Amino acid sequence: MLDDLPQGVRLVAVSKFHPSEYIRAAYEEGQRIFGESHEQELRRKVEELPKDIEWHFIGHLQTNKVKYIAPYISMVEAVDSMKLLSEINRQAQRNNRTIKVLLELHIAEEETKYGLSVDDCRELLAAGEWKTLENVRICGLMMMASYTDDAEQIRREMMTASDFFDEVKRDYFADDDSFCERSWGMSHDYPIACECNSTMVRVGSKIFGERVY
Ligand SMILES: *Cc1c(COP(=O)(O)O)cnc(C)c1O
Repeated sequence: MLDDLPQGVRLVAVSKFHPSEYIRAAYEEGQRIFGESHEQELRRKVEELPKDIEWHFIGHLQTNKVKYIAPYISMVEAVDSMKLLSEINRQAQRNNRTIKVLLELHIAEEETKYGLSVDDCRELLAAGEWKTLENVRICGLMMMASYTDDAEQIRREMMTASDFFDEVKRDYFADDDSFCERSWGMSHDYPIACECNSTMVRVGSKIFGERVY
């Protein structure tokens, strides 16, 4: 799909607002991880498409929607509160499964974006309640850089996230191999993300074309 990804960087093909035919075409080329951000749209696509697709929920997830995606979602990428994390755990338990999650950081300057500040994320981890949740697995961190042409700013933000990943890994997950994911990089900035230790880029329009909302 993207032929310039270095080894060790996986592609989450962001298919929101694109029809199932596009996903099927990418699937036939071998792509297996797809990202969606609306629960109803995702539910419809899950019914239509092959069962071995790994679906990542990449958008802001309301706690009251968790129950709908819990039976099949592979990873929830944008967890930004203990409340949401607990609800994912509760619904995963009801479905007898474990759901992978990433903690979403807010580092960008835009105010509209969701996510935990580095300090809030430190606090959440230090509080330790997450350790009691047996049906979620925290696999790493996710962030969106500022939407700007300033490559240096993007790089700075991604490196802040990368440095913070190292801190969290050292302090809480040193013995846990599943804490390994750094999800940053979108269509306009994934080449920078690849230089900033990303392991997972979330790319949509570059692959599927502009979205029609
Ligand atoms: C839509 C979206 C993307 C993909 O954006 P593109 O610019 O189309 O690559 C990545 N991450 C998140 C969280 C998104 O909502």
